[in-house]
Amino acid sequence: MNNYTGSNYQKWELIKVAEYFAVVNNYFDKGYYVNYGETSVASIAKLNSYMDTISARYLTLLGVQISRSNATYYNSIIDTCKNGNVISSNLDTLCSHAENHTGLEQVKSAFEDFTTPRNSITRKVYWTGHRVTTPTSDNRSYCFANDFYMLEKSSSVDRDVDSIGIMVHELNHTFGARDHYHEELINDNGTAYCRNKSICSICGSNPRPATCIMNNSRGRDISETDILCDTCKEDMLYYILRHIN
Ligand SMILES: [Zn+2]
Ligand SMILES: [Zn+2]
Ligand SMILES: [Zn+2]
Ligand SMILES: [Zn+2]
Repeated sequence: MNNYTGSNYQKWELIKVAEYFAVVNNYFDKGYYVNYGETSVASIAKLNSYMDTISARYLTLLGVQISRSNATYYNSIIDTCKNGNVISSNLDTLCSHAENHTGLEQVKSAFEDFTTPRNSITRKVYWTGHRVTTPTSDNRSYCFANDFYMLEKSSSVDRDVDSIGIMVHELNHTFGARDHYHEELINDNGTAYCRNKSICSICGSNPRPATCIMNNSRGRDISETDILCDTCKEDMLYYILRHIN
């Protein structure tokens, strides 16, 4: 007997089922909530909601189920440098100690050493509103291995959309996505070249779509359909297949 006709016809719905699992834990220091003029409790609610928005999108886009713990206060070396006396007027103050507490390398290695062992499915994120110096640029978000650093000081107007967009961009890196925005560097003989030349959206020989979040992560709503280009998505699924099972 055939049940697949008439009123007995089974209606199949496409339900996205997680195929892979990852963990993303968010940490913030006093510089973060002081920068936004809010309480640490308010920052926890913000970061948790960013994470939930991103998790839902990752599940749809990539079949990756991300779980999180609550965002947690992290006593960063910059908070410590300022003796915990973090106020809006000293957020941009750089460390004057012999051992530099506001250089990117120092900030990075302190966070690397902090809690959770590194493994293939766990990422940790550090949010701060303190000024962090870098050798080469004023860029304020970074990814190193599975750790990433949200050093953004967005204006209150675009805070949520920028924080989420930039976080997705950095998180994508931890799953194998590559930048394809145009960025000129100078080589040893003084010639300018684009850091992402091969796949650059502007000057690349094999350009990837400019709409992709790996080209531009600011002012982007991550629910847009073209938020991740097909090639970046392929790169990420390839990475996920090899590293997360
Ligand atoms: Zn210091
Ligand atoms: Zn990037
Ligand atoms: Zn370029
Ligand atoms: Zn892309």
